[in-house]
Amino acid sequence: MSDTKFVGTPRKVTTHVNQNEGLIFEKSSPGKKAYRLAELDVPAIDAKKLLGPALRTDLGVMPELSEIEIIRHFTRLSTWNYAIDLGMYPLGSCTMKYNGRVNEAVARLEGIAEAHPYQPESLSQGCLQIMKTLEEALLEITGMDAITLQPAAGAHGEFTGILMVRAYHESKGNARKKIIVPDSAHGTNPATAAVVGYEVANLKSNAQGMVDLEELERMVDEDTAALMLTNPSTIGVFESDIHKIADILHAKGALLYMDGANMNALVGKTRPGDFGVDVMHLNLHKTFSTPHGGGGPGSGPVAVKKILEPFLPKPTVETKPDGSLTLQFDRPQSVGRVRMFYGNFGMFVRALAYILANGPDGLRQTTEDAVLNANYIRAKLLDTFELPFKRPSLHEVVFSDKLQAKNGVKTGDMGKRLIDYGFHAYTVSFPLVVSGAMMIEPTESESREELDLLIDALKQIAQEAAENPELVKTAPHTTRLQRLDETTAARKPILRWKAPVAKEPVQPDTAAKEW
Ligand SMILES: *Cc1c(COP(=O)(O)O)cnc(C)c1O
Repeated sequence: MSDTKFVGTPRKVTTHVNQNEGLIFEKSSPGKKAYRLAELDVPAIDAKKLLGPALRTDLGVMPELSEIEIIRHFTRLSTWNYAIDLGMYPLGSCTMKYNGRVNEAVARLEGIAEAHPYQPESLSQGCLQIMKTLEEALLEITGMDAITLQPAAGAHGEFTGILMVRAYHESKGNARKKIIVPDSAHGTNPATAAVVGYEVANLKSNAQGMVDLEELERMVDEDTAALMLTNPSTIGVFESDIHKIADILHAKGALLYMDGANMNALVGKTRPGDFGVDVMHLNLHKTFSTPHGGGGPGSGPVAVKKILEPFLPKPTVETKPDGSLTLQFDRPQSVGRVRMFYGNFGMFVRALAYILANGPDGLRQTTEDAVLNANYIRAKLLDTFELPFKRPSLHEVVFSDKLQAKNGVKTGDMGKRLIDYGFHAYTVSFPLVVSGAMMIEPTESESREELDLLIDALKQIAQEAAENPELVKTAPHTTRLQRLDETTAARKPILRWKAPVAKEPVQPDTAAKEW
């Protein structure tokens, strides 16, 4: 490795303080406290008497620190994170867009934040109205007939949707055997089909990365339950023959499932319900700007055509003759409940706030900006990276590492190198139909200035790959930790703090285990 950390000069980042930070247990010293209580001015209660054997006396090993130590500990940890509030997150197929602060303001309103799922219906009319209004907005956006908000993620929505497909076919006397999944699909699609008990039939894409209609026609038969299709596809291209795809399936009684995770390219422009889709999921944590990643709650509503409505999970939100709203549990053909209570309600609030804050024209503008941004990146990097599919992009663009791989530099190396330039990596090695894929989705959130910084960084990385490949292959260099051993991290994760060899005997049940 050369002693300079960059071949050119990065415009976005300078080296910054990146403090080392031990575990909170390692910082602990006995007797330290982060609080001081006033002297007791009421009679003390004997907790042992009150709680009896339920009183826990042994708290195990707890960290003991002062207030400022705690604050510094967590603040320092937070500086190790990359976040959408720090800069662009170009992960393709993920729609890592900015989450408007208005969403958070609305979600924190007392009547909403403190609502309880067991509150009587008469006191929950506001919350039910939020659900109903969101349902109506999503139905308008998708052009579908009925919807459930229950599923907690995209993959969970797929599972719910395919359960409904199975229930539909069963109601006609035969669940059918297989689900067709194109080779460009997100990994969750074949996984979903298999979990619901279907065989997965792999459909090869044609040279343009699209569904091969002739091949599809050959594959669809009376044993086909559905095709699961992402549109626009994971290479960011719209399946322009989607009508014909729907017709081929419907002719054999099979259904068209659309993975709607890429709706950021379609909202306000075209509606799946109008181009033949029977069932689809949405990712509120992608398209509708609710927080994404970090293990936070997601939301994957499933919208269906009329024929699938009887199978929706229960309860559904219905309007009573007096105009008030109620939860309807009496749904004999329902696939049942897929989530406790009604789904991730806090996400419904945020998504509805986003939809209403934008309005129809704002949502359409969002789509146009997302597509414009992806095409801008595509046009600017066309001469730097190989572009396997030449058609204009929708919301994301896929390059490959073919030119750089000649010098031994792979997509993963360049993704890690991007960290040195102040960006999160793009999506590495996906979709699988493109070898060495570099998949970039800027979203509408980014300004031209931020896009130019990314383009600039990627051009510099390409130059480094040509002039000093080792620099890229050993990246990142400016982070607190450098390249990690990913295999060991995946195979032998250490998830539990282990006390250093104890000075006193440790109780057998609190003795540290590996993980
Ligand atoms: C993100 C994504 C999913 C899965 O959604 P999760 O919420 O992560 O479960 C499925 N399909 C596509 C195309 C996606 O981009």
